[in-house]
Amino acid sequence: MELAALKGRMCQRVDELAEVLVDVAHQIHDHPELAFEERFAHDLLTSVLEREGVEVTRGAWELATAFDARAGDEGPTAAICCEYDALPGIGHACGHNVIAAAGLGAGLAAAAVAGEVGGRVRILGTPAEEGGAGKVVMAERGALEGVDAAMMVHPAGADLATIDAIAAAMFDVEYHGQAAHAAAAPHEGRNALDAAVLGYLNVAALRQHIRSTERVHGVFTRGGDKANIVPDFASAHWMVRSARASSLGPLKERVLACLEAGAMAAGCRMEHRPSAPDYADMVDNPVLLALYLGNSEAVGRPVPVEAASDARVVGSTDMGNVSYLVPSIHPMIKVAPADVSIHTPAFAGHARSATADRAVLDGAKAMALTVADVWARPGALDQVRASFSPTPPSL
Ligand SMILES: [Zn+2]
Ligand SMILES: [Zn+2]
Repeated sequence: MELAALKGRMCQRVDELAEVLVDVAHQIHDHPELAFEERFAHDLLTSVLEREGVEVTRGAWELATAFDARAGDEGPTAAICCEYDALPGIGHACGHNVIAAAGLGAGLAAAAVAGEVGGRVRILGTPAEEGGAGKVVMAERGALEGVDAAMMVHPAGADLATIDAIAAAMFDVEYHGQAAHAAAAPHEGRNALDAAVLGYLNVAALRQHIRSTERVHGVFTRGGDKANIVPDFASAHWMVRSARASSLGPLKERVLACLEAGAMAAGCRMEHRPSAPDYADMVDNPVLLALYLGNSEAVGRPVPVEAASDARVVGSTDMGNVSYLVPSIHPMIKVAPADVSIHTPAFAGHARSATADRAVLDGAKAMALTVADVWARPGALDQVRASFSPTPPSL
């Protein structure tokens, strides 16, 4: 089939499914679920896929709320990632309901023609993007093997080619000291709260000597129970962010040295463990991105290549880890006014709106057409592969 005719068929399929896709976006929005608890979204998306005749593995890759749907028997494999977790207290304030519905639409449009074209599509249900790194767990278990290109769209206050996703590490720290009566026998105490506070102050000094792109932020989660008992236990949660995965490790070591020094000064013992896998920075594949941008324009949504600086979105995503493993893109699609940022209650409102509904359908089409290019545009996949660098240079 001619590429143009193929693309026409895929857009038509998204239009036929429009009511279903918008309903899915609304239903997921109405049932916000936290990381790894997304049973409603998992069941809804997999039941629609099954109803449309796509082969689905529910609870895929040993994760109860992940799924893996496949169509096509031969040829290049494109993967479309569906996120669907929400945030505590503010629901779908990151708009993952739109990601899921757009991914579903793109996947179904691709599945409808995969057999005829000689291409394969995987629709991956990837739970726990908001702190749990479901994509990392799935990738470690083999979910991306054989994938030639991966994509998703993410809601924002503007149409953007990319997200400025930097690498991030999250870890819990515990300090163990010695309890004592704070007045009767203070010399017998080893103060775990002192250890935590001294470590915090060391990090404050460190901040003067890190890159302007780097971030370190921490909170105390336990600091003792009563003023007249020397705390024998204190704990904290820390996040460390750096532009690249390669520069994240060295910064994390410096932060841990600060925290350890606090423990040493207070005569306490410190333990730390990651609370989630590290998130890598996002490395967009330039060829795949150019194809997507062309297709987005073709469906009536031109994306400026250079975004206004105040429109850019800075954050971290587990799609970054995917981008280190296979050629990937993470464009942003407008669902809200420019001055409404993600992770706010106002954004949650816009994630279920006429603008969001349009983003579901446009995003589905732009991704589906990009899958068509990966499958059938002469030389496209070779160029995508040639421009893929699994270890981008450190800054
Ligand atoms: Zn988010
Ligand atoms: Zn998000």
